[in-house]
Amino acid sequence: MAKIFQATHVGKVRHNNEDSLIVIEPETFVVADGMGGAQAGEVASQMLVETVKDFLSETPPYNEQILSQAILLANGKILNLARRNANYLGMGTTATILSLDDRKGYFAHVGDSRIYRLRNNFLEQLTEDHSYVETLVRRGEITPEEARVHPMKNVLTQAVGVVENISVDTANFPVESGDTFLLCTDGLTNMVDDQNIAKILQSASNPADALIDAALKAGGRDNISVIVVGVD
Ligand code: CA
Repeated sequence: MAKIFQATHVGKVRHNNEDSLIVIEPETFVVADGMGGAQAGEVASQMLVETVKDFLSETPPYNEQILSQAILLANGKILNLARRNANYLGMGTTATILSLDDRKGYFAHVGDSRIYRLRNNFLEQLTEDHSYVETLVRRGEITPEEARVHPMKNVLTQAVGVVENISVDTANFPVESGDTFLLCTDGLTNMVDDQNIAKILQSASNPADALIDAALKAGGRDNISVIVVGVD
């Protein structure tokens, strides 16, 4: 059995928490960061996690194709709702799902929420951000440090529920005893750098609460959501 910690916080600036997260027993984890006016962001991220939960009603393993199908289904549902209701026009959400089964892991991902893996004290981001600044980093035009404070860091190149055709990133990979996985929204990663995230994952007794605390201490400018999974 894995050790699971989860936490979400509205932050210090915003009035609504537009993030949603869910742990689907035994070992599937979802974070979603909603966007859109009024309360639309909350609606989109909530619809994402609920659609994924309902879709994964059978027995695991949920491989990356199944996880990807769940995201595509949510994409259609959110898009339909937005088309029927003017208040929801333009809403969308990130979608990052990790599923573990025995010694294998699977993910499906759209947007700029992230999955990290800490293995032998080395922190690695497994997902790639679908964001404008990530495109600039990959072209070598700015550094990852500059991306974290870039004025356009919130601009996504892909989100769920905005257009019909999205391309879901997927992967499967071996899981080792002692691996720690972190799923998080950008309210963490824009506030706390990778080095400090690694330190907290290595040392905190409740790493989810400790990561939220660190993001709040750094200003808490956005909603913050984290799920930490320690593999036995
Ligand atoms: Ca966010």
